[in-house]
Amino acid sequence: MSSTIQDLRVKLEDPDARVNDAESRAASALRSRDRVLGLASYVEELHHSAGADLCTCGKKQIACSEYKAMYVMREAIAQWERRNKDRMRRGQAHDLPRDHTLAEPDRAPLWRGPQSLEDEYRQARRS
Ligand SMILES: [Zn+2]
Repeated sequence: MSSTIQDLRVKLEDPDARVNDAESRAASALRSRDRVLGLASYVEELHHSAGADLCTCGKKQIACSEYKAMYVMREAIAQWERRNKDRMRRGQAHDLPRDHTLAEPDRAPLWRGPQSLEDEYRQARRS
């Protein structure tokens, strides 16, 4: 408890420490967002429109809970995919999963995203 109060005193007295702390928290939130959208993109790949009111899983869209959940998120996922595809094409670090349909392994030396859905699943099972 006393170290927390001491930490707060330092931050209150040192504006740079407050800025650094805020930047660190913002970067952490953005990493979390990118990770969630990367994992959601796996579900979206399995459940998106196949035309004529059908989901790619074969169910009618209205009967597919995954389709409906992804429909709500589709614009956020599409924006995230475009942003990361642009970063990949410019040779910058990006968060596309290595097995994402938009991933171009030869063009992207700076992977930050998941290796694959299988690797993510195995890691989640271990923890
Ligand atoms: Zn579906």
